[in-house]
Amino acid sequence: MSHGDPSSDPAAPQSSPPTPPRPKASKCPCCGHHTLRPTAKAHRVCRYRLVVVTLPAGLLVPTCSRCKHSLLSFDSVPDLAATLEAAYRAELVHRASVEITHLGKFYSQRRLERDLDLSQGYLSRLRAGDGVPSAALVSLMALLRTDPHRLEELNAYWALPLPSEPAPRKRKQDA
Ligand SMILES: [Zn+2]
Repeated sequence: MSHGDPSSDPAAPQSSPPTPPRPKASKCPCCGHHTLRPTAKAHRVCRYRLVVVTLPAGLLVPTCSRCKHSLLSFDSVPDLAATLEAAYRAELVHRASVEITHLGKFYSQRRLERDLDLSQGYLSRLRAGDGVPSAALVSLMALLRTDPHRLEELNAYWALPLPSEPAPRKRKQDA
């Protein structure tokens, strides 16, 4: 079997432009044929932590040309972890900006920062896409989206002591 680079062989007549070498095929765990190759494909989606990420079309994922089985794992796709992490962070940044803008119709940013115990200017920076917020903060703003005035409820929550827990009742021992 010879897989030499055709451009290095002057004897090989090349009328058509050289095609990139086909990636080596491996055995498909689904159909058992040696038809699994790193393949680029658009519209691949993948759930990662809280979000559904659309993977970059150029990401090479081992995919079977015969049965279409694909191996999307951190082991089989070396760039997957970094790709997903970057997409997740970008989603947090984007969603935070949108939710801060929305809540800004009801409250000043200073008020929001005070009521959520955030440092002054933090929401302005997030809104401008500077910094990655916690998913918990984005989740909280997402819950406030449908009813922003529930922020008052949080004020009341923090202002009052927790209701005292009922003392555990002593069980009568039946002997
Ligand atoms: Zn297959």
